[in-house]
Amino acid sequence: MPKPRLRCSSLDQIINCPASFTLIPLVVDTDEDSEASTQGNWCHAQAARRLIEEHGATTPTLIKFPKHYEPDSIDNWVVDFYLEEFLDQVPGDWAIEVENELAYDYGRFILTGHQDALAVSPDIETAVAVDLKRGRVPVDEAGANWQILGYLVQVKRAYPSLKKIIYSIIQPLAMPDLGYERVSTVMLEGDRLEQAVPFLTGKLEEALDNPSLLQTGWKYCRYCPVANTFQCPAVNAHVQEMKLTLTKDHIAAIQQQPDLQQLGEWTVDRRMLAGLMDKAAKLLKEQIGNEPLILERDGSRIILADRNGQRRIESEPGWQKLVEIFPSEECYECIRLSPTEIEKQLAAFFKIPKTSKKNVSGQSEFKRIFGSITHQDPTTELIIS
Ligand code: SF4
Repeated sequence: MPKPRLRCSSLDQIINCPASFTLIPLVVDTDEDSEASTQGNWCHAQAARRLIEEHGATTPTLIKFPKHYEPDSIDNWVVDFYLEEFLDQVPGDWAIEVENELAYDYGRFILTGHQDALAVSPDIETAVAVDLKRGRVPVDEAGANWQILGYLVQVKRAYPSLKKIIYSIIQPLAMPDLGYERVSTVMLEGDRLEQAVPFLTGKLEEALDNPSLLQTGWKYCRYCPVANTFQCPAVNAHVQEMKLTLTKDHIAAIQQQPDLQQLGEWTVDRRMLAGLMDKAAKLLKEQIGNEPLILERDGSRIILADRNGQRRIESEPGWQKLVEIFPSEECYECIRLSPTEIEKQLAAFFKIPKTSKKNVSGQSEFKRIFGSITHQDPTTELIIS
C-alpha cells in the first residue's frame, strides 16, 4: 500500500477526525470552486507575482491566475496589506521564495504543504514565513493552528540548519473589533523548534492508529468531502438520531432553561449543518421529479410545488421613487428595497392601514407606485407534510 499523503491544510481534520482519512477516498468530492476560493486564488497569485517582480522572490512553480476573474478594490487591498506585513519582517538581503510545495517522508506518511511566502536569512539560521487567508471567517491563531505547525515542520525539514522560524497567519479581512486579529504569529526556536517535528509526527501517527474514530466539528467538517455527500455517519447521527430511550441521566440533566453551553452547542451545530442542509435541499429539488418522496424514517412526504418567487423591485427607479416619497429616515428603513417593508413604511407615513380590501392601504399604494417596476419570478419549493 502506498504511504498516506497528509496535507498540512487538512491536519486539523485528520488529528480531530482520523476516520475522515478512511472515508474520503470512498467518495467523490462534489464541492464546486466557490467565489471565495477564486478570490483567494487570485490574491495568492497576485501577491506571489509582486514578490517575484518587485522583490526578486523565486518560485518553483508557474504562478496561475484564475481565468475570467476581475479583482475588485478589496482584493488589491488584501494583497497590499499582506505584502506590507510580510516585508516589514524581512531584511532586504534575505532570500524569498513563494508558492513552494514541500513534500517530505516522515516514515509512516508523507506530509505535503504549500508555503505562500518564505524568507531565509543569509546564514540560513532564521526564517520568516507567512500564510495568507483571504476569507473573513476567523481561523485559529498561528500558535494554536495545526496547519501552521505542519508548515513549520516542513520548513525545518527543508532547511535543517534553521534555529528560529517565525510564522504568521495574515488575514486582512478578520475583524479586530470582534477580537479577531488580522495578524497572528508563532515563533519556535532552539529546543522547541527541534521538538516540533517529533511532536507533530507523534500526533499524526496516533491519528493513523485510530482510523475508525469519527468526530464532528464545524471547523473541519465544513471542508470535508464526506460531509458534502451526506454520508458521514457522525454528521448524520447529529441530524437523525431523534429516537432514543429516556434514561435517569437524561432526566437528571434536564433543566428549566437551557444553559449557555447547550445554547452554544446548538449554535455551532447550526453553523455546521446549515450549509449542508441547504445543499441537500437544492440537490433534492433537482432530482425529485413529479412523484412525492415518502421518507422511510418517519413517513414524511416531500413534493415539489410551483410558487411565486420573492417580489423584486428594480433598484434604480425604485430608489428614485423612494426619495421622492419619503424623508431620509423612512428611506433608510427601506434600504433593502423590501416590498413588505415599503408597504409598512407607506402605511405608517400616510397613516393608512397596512392592508385593506376597501380603502387605500400600504399595500394598494405600493402597487400603485411600485407595481410597474416590481417583478415576481415563478419558483419551485419543496413542501413537507
Ligand atoms: S464530515 Fe466531519 S465527522 Fe465526518 S468524516 Fe468528515 S470531518 Fe469527520
